[in-house]
Amino acid sequence: MSTPEYLLSVRLAQLRERIELACRRSGRAPGSVALLPVSKTFPADVLAQALDLGLHRLGENKLQEIRDKQAQLAGRGVQWVMIGHLQTNKAKDAARLAAEVQSLDRLSLAQELDRRLRLEQRSLDVLIQVKTSPEESKFGLPPEDLPAFMQALRSLDTLRVRGLMTMAVNSPDPQAVRACFRLLRQWRDRLQELGHEQVQRLSMGMSGDFELAIQEGSTEVRVGSALFGARDYA
Ligand SMILES: *Cc1c(COP(=O)(O)O)cnc(C)c1O
Repeated sequence: MSTPEYLLSVRLAQLRERIELACRRSGRAPGSVALLPVSKTFPADVLAQALDLGLHRLGENKLQEIRDKQAQLAGRGVQWVMIGHLQTNKAKDAARLAAEVQSLDRLSLAQELDRRLRLEQRSLDVLIQVKTSPEESKFGLPPEDLPAFMQALRSLDTLRVRGLMTMAVNSPDPQAVRACFRLLRQWRDRLQELGHEQVQRLSMGMSGDFELAIQEGSTEVRVGSALFGARDYA
């Protein structure tokens, strides 16, 4: 199923308005929160429409999907942002295809990414995915491991750590969701106090909770369904 182009542009305008309103309500400068459109499961023709609307960074959660779409959209200058769980044996593809990885969550993956990036003679912006929710299904580094992880990453100089990423608990209780976002911000602040000033970005907030994330300091919301419509996994 394809999305009519006017519908995508209307949804984009509405989304930007909601982001701006949330910024204003939290006393934050409009424009201090970036939008990462999440295009997973949507076909290349829908992505092409997004590119026509001026979006050029697209979030995907599978490298295979990035590879297929990259081939279909060759020459369009898409910056692919990997936001899904990354198996170590896929580090080679990530090192080739991704403009950025937001799901760095363990040292073994960092080491393999670094090795592959050296072979490609590239460096990569990364965010560390942090587990802020008790759910088993959520990936991420336990927050208390962050200081040691940052130390260990010092020797891997193909990886530029720009910030932290998280997925909040899936809960109807806004206070529980907010607590996840707050925890991520507190850890970002703590890392800065420890001298890691490069850790600035907070990628947090999705279609269902981005307003709460903005209130808690998000610098980047990852939005899929509120922009592209409901996903069909069939
Ligand atoms: C799918 C996904 C999103 C976007 O989810 P929506 O609810 O569709 O906005 C954000 N972040 C990650 C890591 C995802 O996998």
